[in-house]
Amino acid sequence: ITPTAEEVLSRAEEAGVEFVNLQFTDVMGIVKSVSIPIDVFPDVIQNGQWFDGSSIAGFARIAESDMFLMPDLATFAVIPWEQGRNATARVICWVHNPNGDLFPGDPRAVLLRQLERLAQIGYRYHTGPELEFFLFRKDNGSVRPLPHDQGGYFDLTTDLAAEVRKDMIQALKAFGIKVEAGHHEVAIGQHEIDFEYSDALTTADHAVTMKYTLKAIAQQHGLHATFMPKPIEGVNGSGMHTHQSLAFLESGENAFVDTSDDYGLSKLARHFIAGQLAHARGMAAVLAPLVNSYRRLVPGFEAPVYVSWARQNRSALIRVPAIRAGRTAATRIELRCPDPAANPYLAYAVMLAAGLDGIERELPLPEPIEENLYHFTEDDLRRRNVATLPATLGEAMAELERDEVVREALGEHVVEKLLEAQKQEWDSFRRHVSTWELERYLEIY
Ligand code: GLU
Ligand code: MG
Ligand code: MG
Repeated sequence: ITPTAEEVLSRAEEAGVEFVNLQFTDVMGIVKSVSIPIDVFPDVIQNGQWFDGSSIAGFARIAESDMFLMPDLATFAVIPWEQGRNATARVICWVHNPNGDLFPGDPRAVLLRQLERLAQIGYRYHTGPELEFFLFRKDNGSVRPLPHDQGGYFDLTTDLAAEVRKDMIQALKAFGIKVEAGHHEVAIGQHEIDFEYSDALTTADHAVTMKYTLKAIAQQHGLHATFMPKPIEGVNGSGMHTHQSLAFLESGENAFVDTSDDYGLSKLARHFIAGQLAHARGMAAVLAPLVNSYRRLVPGFEAPVYVSWARQNRSALIRVPAIRAGRTAATRIELRCPDPAANPYLAYAVMLAAGLDGIERELPLPEPIEENLYHFTEDDLRRRNVATLPATLGEAMAELERDEVVREALGEHVVEKLLEAQKQEWDSFRRHVSTWELERYLEIY
């Protein structure tokens, strides 16, 4: 339900909006924004806002840098912490080439393309991400991993963190994001805020909004919110587990449900899971995009390491969460390898493409593994034919290069730009001599 230009403009006027931030993301998921004064907004709604794409990571080459932004009015919202003087709203935009086509390097367009493919066979894609994050104290201006509270999983902490989390939830509400719950996570200083599932484009927008909202609110309290996947060695990292299901376009009913199945899953759901397992290694560079992402994907911290599925097993890559008796509409699968550094648009695009590949090729679903995989030996893994997720960003990049389905979903432009950006990261990391190495080797060798 996209509001009309008139509706949006009158909402802007009521709120005394003076500026509008036109937003989009680059390939790495970093939010880009062009600010315009409110009096030019009506023209921008009609004709778009031209900008130079050459300075945006993963966008145009110098020769073809002219692009324009078209506001997606469904995403218009007054920024809750920028009210009063110079009150500012944001609107998320589609990026277009001069000829009017959607720019294929815009992550949002990449997701739209997959959603349209899915619509052609009669389904829509629902996702519900769980973003975990840490709140850190600022130490003399520089951000240090000094968790500022003493809470653990679901602990009721009466300190600052709980207050900050409430402010965060209020701000998210102002953006139209329906928060379901917020809680303290396993690690000290770690939190999670979950919002209602919806179609994948909306939840990707919400995930992007949530990241900058939480950073802004933390800052108001003199704290720093980080979505870095593994900020502290030896404790849990932060994931962006994503709950997923397909719904019939026509009836809106959940297409993953089959009450006669042991796991309550339809054939469609089983093929979808099989597809995601088959492409888990190829998707890794998108779902866990940083050098640091691979510090999280190690045994012992509730993050997946092996390519398997199960019902309740938190060491599995894909979990089928339990649902309340009779509430089959809630049937879904949870993919646990994505982390919150991933670009959610690209993440959902490849996850959907992988699931669709499983459906199209009718891939058989391997047996679930309900045991704790962290306790498996190399032998167990080989016997049960369990693959391992990439151990490094370098390995993940090589897997992406090999995976035709994932490459096709991203499109040539994004694959090239993403791998270019990641190669720089990986090369820089490979050149770095760490304190771990010095402590370990300097004296002995
Ligand atoms: N923090 C864990 C991860 O890195 C997940 C904990 C949970 O199950 O919520 O994925
Ligand atoms: Mg969690
Ligand atoms: Mg979860």
